[in-house]
Amino acid sequence: MHQKALEDYLNTILEVTRFRDYCPNGLQVEGRTQIQTIVTGVTASQALIAHAIELRADAIIVHHGYFWRGEDACLRGIKRQRIAALIKHDINLYAYHLPLDAHIALGNNAQLAKKLNIAIEGSFGEQAIALHGSFETPTTLRELNTNLTQLLTRQPLIIGDPSKSIRRIAWCSGAAQHTFEEAISLEVDAYLTGEISEQSVHTARETGVAFISAGHHATERYGIQALGEHIAKQFDLCHYFIDVENPV
Ligand SMILES: [Zn+2]
Repeated sequence: MHQKALEDYLNTILEVTRFRDYCPNGLQVEGRTQIQTIVTGVTASQALIAHAIELRADAIIVHHGYFWRGEDACLRGIKRQRIAALIKHDINLYAYHLPLDAHIALGNNAQLAKKLNIAIEGSFGEQAIALHGSFETPTTLRELNTNLTQLLTRQPLIIGDPSKSIRRIAWCSGAAQHTFEEAISLEVDAYLTGEISEQSVHTARETGVAFISAGHHATERYGIQALGEHIAKQFDLCHYFIDVENPV
């Protein structure tokens, strides 16, 4: 399919104009015009680009692209190396940040609900990206720890009483520890996000609402994967999801 047709489709289904974001969403680096093979991954790192080159991909689609607000705009150092590799191999780079966290079916937060068997009840927080809902079967924090380790293939860091019963939960993928206070006001039993701050520990202890830090990378693997599978099916493209290991 044509490079521009893919961008138009992605921009439309992900409703990119609805968000105020920290980076441009869409086609960030132009490559060849015809696309047949796509590689998806969480971050457009040099390792992901190397996989795409090896797989002769025409396009890479990621959650974390380039050109973040506040960063040095110059093409130097690792930024130059990454972009030089893309251009040398004529590979398109598409990036979708907040629109991919938020999408109602393919988004990181919707995919987490599906994976963890949570019924979504509503959204909240910055640009209504975070979600809250209830477990189909109420669990304990101890059980949830075991399930999360298995489902996300990573050991979470949990602050809270392991015997605490968990029915209602709020969550937001990535580094959304600043949304904890808002989650507490929804009277949930636990809040799950990717990262944790020093102060999150005290807030969890003093409110009794459990804090689950399940990994920034681990909580953001599923949206981009679902998006890749969706467009591969829709347009008969060849798709590879590459999980470049990241302990954070
Ligand atoms: Zn992120």
